[in-house]
Amino acid sequence: MMKISVKSRQKTEFIDITRQAKEAVSSSDIKNGFCHLFVPHTTAGITINESADPSVQSDILMILNQIVPWKADYGHMEGNSPAHIKSSIIGASEWIAIENARFVLGTWQGIFFCEFDGPRNRNVHINLLAAP
Ligand code: ZN
Repeated sequence: MMKISVKSRQKTEFIDITRQAKEAVSSSDIKNGFCHLFVPHTTAGITINESADPSVQSDILMILNQIVPWKADYGHMEGNSPAHIKSSIIGASEWIAIENARFVLGTWQGIFFCEFDGPRNRNVHINLLAAP
């Protein structure tokens, strides 16, 4: 298992980790298979979406903040229930196919670590599975 270290600087933020994930694949000897990316945190997530226009990321965050209000009658005493809820909406893992030692991603797709309760030091776990 490999790890990517991510340092978030905002309360909520998308951080493009495509380059680091590609480096993990290229540093391995896997030519064909799958890459599993896993976020071991309950107030963060991972998603694949457009990386060309940063407005897409800020639009997603804006709507997530509307769907999940900062203030509500939350029971969780730690005070970060909105971050936990956003984490479950976005999800904690992604699978990406690897062909000829490269990710199978669309032209505009990037991989984003999603911070919902920053700033914090975070990790993304990467496991590679070779095709038989
Ligand atoms: Zn909490």
